[in-house]
Amino acid sequence: MLPAERQKYIKEMIQTKNHIKIAELSKRLGVSDMTIHRDVKPLVEEGTIVKTFGGISANSEHTGSNLHTKKCICCSSNIHERMSFHLILTDRTMEKACCAHCGLIRYKQLEGKLEQAICHDFLKETTIDAHTAWYVMDTSIHVSCCTPQILSFGLEEHAKQFVKGFGGSVYSFPEAMDCLHRRMAGNRKCHQDKKQ
Ligand SMILES: [Zn+2]
Ligand SMILES: [Zn+2]
Repeated sequence: MLPAERQKYIKEMIQTKNHIKIAELSKRLGVSDMTIHRDVKPLVEEGTIVKTFGGISANSEHTGSNLHTKKCICCSSNIHERMSFHLILTDRTMEKACCAHCGLIRYKQLEGKLEQAICHDFLKETTIDAHTAWYVMDTSIHVSCCTPQILSFGLEEHAKQFVKGFGGSVYSFPEAMDCLHRRMAGNRKCHQDKKQ
């Protein structure tokens, strides 16, 4: 087998298994560990994979290297990093949702099994703790994700200013959770309960 063929095989293996030991690769391909290390080097340099202790893993940062993390856990739509909502479970696995809407729905389903929840600031695109974030619903800006649409902000002040310009209501984490689930259950008026 040529080095290029082995690299193709390694790439395919890493996409299905996510993590593989060097020793396992050398055994499967019938070559030495040294050869595998040489084959892996350019793949590490191009960012497809990362080296881990005794093996290699798919580099989840690299677009397309791990297709499974690019679809929403809830609605299967494509994930845009700047809108995404990450759920980190107590067993250290991570689930990604396309937006705060799906993130909050999944949050409820996973209650008790969650370690952390992270979303993105809609204005600054930075990551923020979902529990301390502020959520805007019923705004006139539509970002073509799920409805009812929920945008997240790191600062209450920013969320309020956004609402001033584009309409809608600001909710804290528990309020947004409550509102979304009531609304999904058929009560579409919940945003009127909140006084601004
Ligand atoms: Zn979704
Ligand atoms: Zn969505």
